[in-house]
Amino acid sequence: MPDVLIIGAGPAGLSAARAARRLGAAVTLLDSSDELGGQYWRHLPPSRPSERESVLHHGWATFTALRSELETDDGCTIIRGASVWAIETRDGRPGAVFAVIGEPDGAGRSQRVFEPDALVLATGAHDRTLPFPGWDLPGVFTAGAAQALAKGERVAIGSRVLVAGAGPFLLPVAASLVATGSTVIGVYEANRTKSLLAGWLPKPWQLLRAAKKGTELAGYVLNHLQHRIPYRLGVAVVRADGTDRVETVTIARVDASWAPIPGTEQTIAVDAVCVGHGFTPRLELALAAGCALGADDFVTVDEGQQTSVSSVYAAGEITGIGGVDLALAEGEIAGHVAAGGSVLDARLASALAHRRTYLAFADRIENAHGIETGWQGWLTDDTVVCRCEEVSYGDLCGAVAATGGASLRSVKLSSRAGLGICQGRVCGRTVEELLSTLSPGHSDGPGHSDGPRSAAADRVRTDRRPIAVPLRLGELAAEPG
Ligand SMILES: Cc1cc2nc3c(=O)[nH]c(=O)nc-3n(C[C@H](O)[C@H](O)[C@H](O)COP(=O)(O)OP(=O)(O)OC[C@H]3O[C@@H](n4cnc5c(N)ncnc54)[C@H](O)[C@@H]3O)c2cc1C
Repeated sequence: MPDVLIIGAGPAGLSAARAARRLGAAVTLLDSSDELGGQYWRHLPPSRPSERESVLHHGWATFTALRSELETDDGCTIIRGASVWAIETRDGRPGAVFAVIGEPDGAGRSQRVFEPDALVLATGAHDRTLPFPGWDLPGVFTAGAAQALAKGERVAIGSRVLVAGAGPFLLPVAASLVATGSTVIGVYEANRTKSLLAGWLPKPWQLLRAAKKGTELAGYVLNHLQHRIPYRLGVAVVRADGTDRVETVTIARVDASWAPIPGTEQTIAVDAVCVGHGFTPRLELALAAGCALGADDFVTVDEGQQTSVSSVYAAGEITGIGGVDLALAEGEIAGHVAAGGSVLDARLASALAHRRTYLAFADRIENAHGIETGWQGWLTDDTVVCRCEEVSYGDLCGAVAATGGASLRSVKLSSRAGLGICQGRVCGRTVEELLSTLSPGHSDGPGHSDGPRSAAADRVRTDRRPIAVPLRLGELAAEPG
């Protein structure tokens, strides 16, 4: 039986580990976090436990069943606090996988090198927020951060909070904010009614297969009604203002391309604002392993979740944004096939059916709630684009003009956008999209080796990070144990 190494212990990785174990493979499951569950199943600090943690999360019983099955299984080694920082490939197969183990900023972390027969990548996604004037003020949160604080700490980001952006994720975020004591004064979705109808209405009977999602949605609608939270379409936050922290936000109606419609601005007093425009896959390890990306900029996989690299599988949000149920189904398929099983095996039938259902659901989300290009119309010259290096939109325009805009590398080096502590995780996609607008001549050519959306002619992309997590120089120099 093969040794299967799984990176990421969110829904996809946990499900992959269980499926691989059920076929008898020796499994090692790594996660940089000190808890299992990923972004979806979070945990309160041990000092502030909840008597009924299950009411704080959807599907908590699914999680606890997965966790106890894996924790009590001698064939599954779980290593928490293990951050994978590099992957080498050998002859088109996974080679060495390098991890540091210990507190993220701690000294004396140990190092491990793994050489598995098969590798499952389940590294998830970051939440994405488009920049707008004032988004760097204290009190402005990404939707994911607000959700993480609410679910993982029971901390409310403010008492009077406006939620805005795009996508169904805004609904659970609003519900969590209410549950932690915030007053949510409105949820504002940038896409307009027509876009939502075009995304959600076709072949409505297919939605019946995802009835569970309908029940969840009904819960959120009820929550909105109970707490009198308005839900408005075709409206975006276009600026935030305040002296030491956010005090007001300006919302405006936007057209179908998300360009703000002049004269529709309205200023609202808030003490916090929470904005999310979807998710960006965490691709650095997949790129390091040599996995090909598709036109949608996610890792491409075949029926058995195998990537373009032999014995490297991918599951969950790095293959497309589809939520927890899709991640669980993909994880099960990836783990089963990585352990030597076949997609034709009867025991995968249910996971394959779930994957079909939730892939169709994910398409609807993208069609209804995808990011349009007109948001660039709400940027001003002094809007910060790269928060780590404090690079403004004006600086970026200057760098593009000075370098001719042909090379993302030149634009990054001359403006420093994407070179700060987050290594472009927050601003990378934004910088690429701005560069392709500012340099309209630069489209990606055919035969592009890094995937289709590397913004500039030099084929550089911001997702490529040779060292995937922050590492001390001493750790880099040390011989792994
Ligand atoms: C901040 C945030 C909050 C979210 N909250 C919700 C929510 O409340 N409800 C909802 O429906 N959806 C939520 N989502 C969407 C959610 O991520 C997915 O639906 C689901 O968790 C995807 O599962 P996954 O297994 O693909 O990835 P994840 O759950 O993201 O799991 C990926 C795991 O990989 C680990 N990892 C990544 N890189 C490395 C590395 N280099 N080394 C070691 N480990 C690594 C991470 O620590 C993480 O535990 C949230 C997303 C984000 C970004």
